[in-house]
Amino acid sequence: MQLISQFYPLLSQPKQIVITMHQKPDGDAMGSTLGLYHFLRNRGHHVTVISPTNWADFLEWLPGIESVINFEGYREKCLGILDKADILFCLDFNIFHRTKHLAPFLAAAKAIKVLIDHHEQPDEPNFDYGISDTGKSSTCEMVYDFIVEAGGREELTQDIATCLYTGTMTDTGSFRFPSTKASVHRMVAELKETGFDHSQVHNHIYDNFLESRLRFIGFALLNRMEVLYEYNTAIMYIHQADLQKYHIKTGDTEGLVNYLLTIKGIRFGAIVIDRAEERKWSFRSKGGFDVNQFARNHFEGGGHANASGGRSSDSVEKTVEHFKQVIQEYKNQLQ
Ligand code: 5GP
Ligand code: MN
Repeated sequence: MQLISQFYPLLSQPKQIVITMHQKPDGDAMGSTLGLYHFLRNRGHHVTVISPTNWADFLEWLPGIESVINFEGYREKCLGILDKADILFCLDFNIFHRTKHLAPFLAAAKAIKVLIDHHEQPDEPNFDYGISDTGKSSTCEMVYDFIVEAGGREELTQDIATCLYTGTMTDTGSFRFPSTKASVHRMVAELKETGFDHSQVHNHIYDNFLESRLRFIGFALLNRMEVLYEYNTAIMYIHQADLQKYHIKTGDTEGLVNYLLTIKGIRFGAIVIDRAEERKWSFRSKGGFDVNQFARNHFEGGGHANASGGRSSDSVEKTVEHFKQVIQEYKNQLQ
């Protein structure tokens, strides 16, 4: 993978560009791809954003989201566009399998592949150019850096600012995590100069759910949470029937894992959700416990030191049992 600085000259002529992101895109994945989409389009490129799967309703208002194509619903169309692309940007993931069924087509694409990402252990040989920086708060912050380094500081618009603010806000837990360095606040100050409305972003993302989702959270906290005090760990497990009873959709469970870390003394929170085809884990930690490594070691996953995910093909009961087994190895680290 060559340095991103060597890539900029390739943008001097209009190009056919595809931007993609990890499956089930979150605020950072969707915000960063759309922020880059607006910037490149305004520069005269032909740009298409492809999502490997559907996404949460709470992202549905983002500027430009109506142009995003869902690979699951429009497979042939996406493959046609991918085939014609000169440049393929891969944002907020660093190994193709994070794009699920789109992965083999990305790997085989003839386009120049550019990585912009902040996850641990990137698969660098599979990208031509790129930047991977685990010290960054979000891929949105990295897209901002990309725009500035491409000489685009004066080209920041309200739409770009809205998209980049959204993902930075969601990936930093509203500017709370240690990754929120001074540079993040400086960027936000500059984004604010465009005049975009940050309060609206909060409303769209955090205050836009149905009553049933709040009732579901109450149910889960009461009936599906266990606190393992000897490991300073809290876990939660959600069954298919729970999701159905409360009409829970993609995105409705986002943030649920963070409740676990609000218990005094808890350093490790883990939630497993039965997603029909697999059991999906979300791991979060405070301080030194490395959940990226934990997810890699035991649940075929990865991510960041304090936020990661994984999976299991066992039943909910079995995978929770497995968790309780392996956590014993970490007793000293968690105390
Ligand atoms: P979440 O719990 O919000 O789904 O994911 C937390 C973080 O871990 C995100 O940055 C996400 O991209 C990453 N992540 C989640 N699942 C996986 C996985 O299976 N593999 C890897 N490498 N990263 C994951
Ligand atoms: Mn991210």
